[in-house]
Amino acid sequence: MRIVVLAGGIGGARFLQGVRATGAEVTAIVNVGDDVTLHGLRICPDLDSVMYTLGGGADAERGWGRAGETWAVKEELAAYGAEPTWFGLGDKDVATHLVRTRMLDAGYPLSAVTEALCSRWKPGVRLLPATDDRLETHVVVPDPDAGPDSPDGGGSRAIHFQEWWIRHRAALPAQRFVFIGADAAKPAPGVLDALAAADVVLVAPSNPVVSIAPILAVGGLRDALVAGSAPVIGFSPIIGGAPVRGMADKCLAAVDVPVTAAGVGGLYGARSADGILDGWLVDTSDAGTAVDGVTVRECPLWMTDERATLAMVQQGLTLAEEVR
Ligand code: GDP
Ligand code: CA
Repeated sequence: MRIVVLAGGIGGARFLQGVRATGAEVTAIVNVGDDVTLHGLRICPDLDSVMYTLGGGADAERGWGRAGETWAVKEELAAYGAEPTWFGLGDKDVATHLVRTRMLDAGYPLSAVTEALCSRWKPGVRLLPATDDRLETHVVVPDPDAGPDSPDGGGSRAIHFQEWWIRHRAALPAQRFVFIGADAAKPAPGVLDALAAADVVLVAPSNPVVSIAPILAVGGLRDALVAGSAPVIGFSPIIGGAPVRGMADKCLAAVDVPVTAAGVGGLYGARSADGILDGWLVDTSDAGTAVDGVTVRECPLWMTDERATLAMVQQGLTLAEEVR
C-alpha cells in the first residue's frame, strides 16, 4: 500500500512514526514555509524535525532539534552580538545546516539535498519538501509606526513566521498569514507522482494554518490532491478545544476559525465542496463533531507513543476504506 502524508514538523514527525509502523510505502510531503536563512545557514525546521525524529536523533523531551545537543555556537554568536539571538541553533544541528547550505549553494535543489541528508538518517519514509522553490510564511502584525507603503496600507508590517513564532512566542496578534512565492512555486519532483500513485492520503494532525495550508498553497498541489482517486483522511490537531502542543490556537484565531475539531475540519472542508477531506478523525472526547460533507469518526488521538499513534493511523486507514 502507498500512503502519502501531508506533514508539518513536530506533530507531523510523531504522526509519521505511526504511519511508518504500518509497513506501507510512505511518502511525506513536508512544509517548507517555516524555512529561514540565519547567520548564512539555510534552516528547514519541519524537514529536520521529521528527519531527526524518524532517524532516531531527535530530542524527545524538548520536541525539536537533536538529542544530546550543545549550544556553544549559539553562545559564541551571542557574544559577538550577532543577531538574531532568539533562534535555537544547536551545535549538532548546525552541521546539518552547513551541509544543506553548501549543497544549495552548489546548485542542488532542496529535494536532492533532503535526500542526501536522509542517506545518513534513514527515516524509513520518503521525505519530500512540498516545493524546491522559495515559499516563505510571513505574518502580518500590527505596527502603529508602519507607513502607507507597508502591508494593508499602514498600521501593520509583515515579519517572517519564525520571528513571530519564536521571538514573539506568537504573542503579537496575527492579522493574516502570507505564503510568499506560493503561487509561482511548483511541487517538488516526486510530489505529484506520489499523489497520483497514492492509495490513501493522510493529513497529519499538524498545524492547519502554518504547516498544512502552506503545503496546499504550492501551485497545483491542492488541485492534484483533490483530483486524485485516493481518499483523503485528516486527523485533528485539536483535542477538547485546545492544541495538544504548541500555539495553533493563536494561528486559528487569526483566520477566525474556532479552536475545535469541528472548526479545523470545516477549515479543510469536504472534497465534495471545494475542500480536501473525505474523512475526519477526531478524538474520542470530541465525539459528536460534525463537518458538512465529511465522514467523521472518533478514536483516541493522543500520540503518546508509537503504538498509540499506529492505532490511530489504522483507524484512519479503516475510515479510508469506508469512504473509498
Ligand atoms: P510544527 O511544525 O513543529 O509546529 O508541528 P506540526 O505543525 O506538525 O504539529 C503541531 C500540531 O501538532 C499542534 O497544533 C498540535 O496540536 C498537534 N499535536 C501535537 N501532538 C499531538 C497529539 O499527540 N495528538 C494530536 N491529535 N495532535 C497533536
Ligand atoms: Ca513548523
